[in-house]
Amino acid sequence: MTRSARIGRVEILNIEDYAPPPFDPQMFFPDVPIDAWEPHRSHHALDKNGKFRVSFGIFALISDDFIVLVDTGIGPSVPDMFGGGEGRLMTNLREAGIQPSQVTAVLNTHLHPDHVGWNMTNGDPTFPNARYYFSARDYEHWTSDGILANAPHIPTQAQPLEGLGLLELTSDGDDIAHGIKSLGTPGHTPGHQSFLIESDGEKGIVTGDVIHSRTQYTDPEWCAGADIDKPTAVATRKAMIERIVSENLTVASSHLVVDSNIGHVVEIENKRYWQPL
Ligand SMILES: [Zn+2]
Repeated sequence: MTRSARIGRVEILNIEDYAPPPFDPQMFFPDVPIDAWEPHRSHHALDKNGKFRVSFGIFALISDDFIVLVDTGIGPSVPDMFGGGEGRLMTNLREAGIQPSQVTAVLNTHLHPDHVGWNMTNGDPTFPNARYYFSARDYEHWTSDGILANAPHIPTQAQPLEGLGLLELTSDGDDIAHGIKSLGTPGHTPGHQSFLIESDGEKGIVTGDVIHSRTQYTDPEWCAGADIDKPTAVATRKAMIERIVSENLTVASSHLVVDSNIGHVVEIENKRYWQPL
């Protein structure tokens, strides 16, 4: 059980923003029959009461050269549907020894509200010395007519960064910095991106919302209700899992339960399983 791992010279550290109360798994995976969860219960996919646990958090990538945050959590005020609490990212970052001014880059996997919640604070960038990286395709989607009108977090957490000149728009395969690369992983959102890390011959990936539950490493057809284009999300998930297994990547999936969201995918009798570090 760990909150951190090392990929060459890069430390990857999970920092939680908020954990909502456990809820009915069908709230998160509406198309998955409740019986389908049974074989996964021995792997702690649900808690002892049969409820699904999820974490809202981020990963910090730390080396001698940079401190990069992948996503910024759900933000200071958590919506009622997730328990209505308070995000603790800034406190937890400081407890991990990271000051906001030290962050050199913020990489957003996608522009859902639970991933950009601390991009800005009261109209100012929360990480004043960072450049912010969105996928060009996701930014285009979320700022398009019809979508923007129903996405009040975009004018507060995304668009001001463009006006401030702090925004970088990425495409599949772009080098971001120091061995970190964008990997286009569409489906959950149209321009969803994951991040590949390579350092001293070791490799890893931060998946973003290609994965919401450890069960999806075994059953990649399972889609979260929030996956916008489900057939594309399934194809992306399958391709990503093949790559994780064939390249033996160290994997970080932020929505998995804290202390078990960094690990590997192992193959046993032709089935894949999540194996936390
Ligand atoms: Zn999410």
